[in-house]
Amino acid sequence: MATQSLYRRYRPRRFAELKGQEHVVRALREAVRTGREGQAYLFSGPRGTGKTTTARILAKVLNCTAPVDGEPCCECESCVSVERGTSYDVHELDAASNNSVEDVRSLIDKVSLATPGRHKVYILDEVHMLGPGASAALLKVLEEPPPHVVFVLATTDPQRLKDTIRSRTQHLQFHLLPSDTLAEHLRWVADDAGIDIDPSVIDAALEQGGGSARDSLSALELLAATGGDVSDHIDLDEFVAAFTDSDTGRALAAVAHAVSMGHDPRTLTEHLLRHLRNLFLSLMAPELVQVRHDRLDELASLARGLGAAGLVRSMERLGQALVEMRFAPDPRIMLEISLVQLTRDDSGDDTASLLARLERLERAVRDGSPRAAEPAAPVDPETGKAVLGGRARRSSEPKATPPAATKETASPTTPAEAPPTENGPEATTAAPAPNASEAPLDLRRVIEVWDASVRASLKPLVRALFSAGEFVAFDPPSTARFRAPNPAHGARCAAHLSEVAAALGRAVGSEVNIVLDDAPEAPTTAASPAEEITEEPVDPAELVDVPPSDVPTAVDSITRAFPGAQVVERTD
Ligand SMILES: [Zn+2]
Repeated sequence: MATQSLYRRYRPRRFAELKGQEHVVRALREAVRTGREGQAYLFSGPRGTGKTTTARILAKVLNCTAPVDGEPCCECESCVSVERGTSYDVHELDAASNNSVEDVRSLIDKVSLATPGRHKVYILDEVHMLGPGASAALLKVLEEPPPHVVFVLATTDPQRLKDTIRSRTQHLQFHLLPSDTLAEHLRWVADDAGIDIDPSVIDAALEQGGGSARDSLSALELLAATGGDVSDHIDLDEFVAAFTDSDTGRALAAVAHAVSMGHDPRTLTEHLLRHLRNLFLSLMAPELVQVRHDRLDELASLARGLGAAGLVRSMERLGQALVEMRFAPDPRIMLEISLVQLTRDDSGDDTASLLARLERLERAVRDGSPRAAEPAAPVDPETGKAVLGGRARRSSEPKATPPAATKETASPTTPAEAPPTENGPEATTAAPAPNASEAPLDLRRVIEVWDASVRASLKPLVRALFSAGEFVAFDPPSTARFRAPNPAHGARCAAHLSEVAAALGRAVGSEVNIVLDDAPEAPTTAASPAEEITEEPVDPAELVDVPPSDVPTAVDSITRAFPGAQVVERTD
């Protein structure tokens, strides 16, 4: 392996080499080309999307002796010194660690020592971390910047910046890269660096990188360093399955396995959080998920198993574990405690675990599964201890049998050819496969056919969209009412109604209409027993309050839910 990291080695040197930030590149190149560059820019966006790199390219081109069409030559003395970090024209301040008034003052003092005819570029990274005094000092110089000075303020969190500062800047937003762009880039880098790797390594790096070019390249490098062997890659689905099945032993076995392969608990937790977030997004906004497209329906199916409330609760709990790890002598214990809590939600009395239990009950009732009544972890009858061994036991569980295809379903997406998406007891206890020639159509039958074959036959995106909602009623003779989790989601489902209705119609052997039902209180016509139970209101008196100190603020929850974010103490 090269001694220089891939990220540094393939860091863009010109605007044209920046990936996925075309709008930023266009604005800056045009400004430089016409000599109308601003005096203060605000670059905002997630980490690893190229903010600082772009600031350095801007600094380079502004002082380049031979710029071409808004791009630096990268060969003149000035360009080379900026690249080496030895230029007197570029000053960088990391506001996360240098956020006092003094730090900003000493930076600003340099502003007045400018060399005539040259541009001084001041890059303030993580500028939202500046204390109030330092912010005031910065604001003062932004109000009347000397003509030869350009400020670039970079931040992952522009909302935390004072309005007065923000309003004095040109704000350019950096985006996470679309997975296809990033995949292409990773392939190109691997090829150029002479790293011979399997395509699955690119997929793994993509998933771990979460849309950040820097993180994806680091992941690629790490995977390549281990010989590109993805069998070393942690199976995060195993954890999700353990949460879904409330299987503590399986979750702990998965930790032990990952640690034995050399993964440290903190990184493992971060990866797991990111995976859970992808699962959550696969239900709520599939287009935002950073995975290759054919994996999307796998994710949606996993996500459906755990449920939205379960996913949110897992993200919150693991996010909290990450914070706790900073002070814990053994981070693995913090992870294991969270996993025990997450797989034994019958012991929690916070609203999140109540919700998760409720959601699991609802799902079990709807699917006719007896599992909700079972103890959390299976016990070995001989030893009386919890059974470990995740995957091994999973394979011994009965598999769902795909329903027999009826004549009408002989289409390119024949449901019988689709892999069974439900495994475990629910599927085997479900009613027998539908038969097109019997029984008048009703809600129960629609749900049966839907679960047994129609959902699996849909295109991944449509399937993911519809997996987040459910059929709630049936109006004879042929109208099924589908309820999305919220109106915005419903609007996205609406675009695919006819396609889904056609698939459903083919499966039941007669024409079916689907209408969106967005009023939760709407009276339902063909109430089945299952439905009556799922509609039963929760008695608020039965819910237990969490002690006030444990209630996370909105910022806490968001920080925890999104692994790219960092929790940082303010010093002021
Ligand atoms: Zn140059």
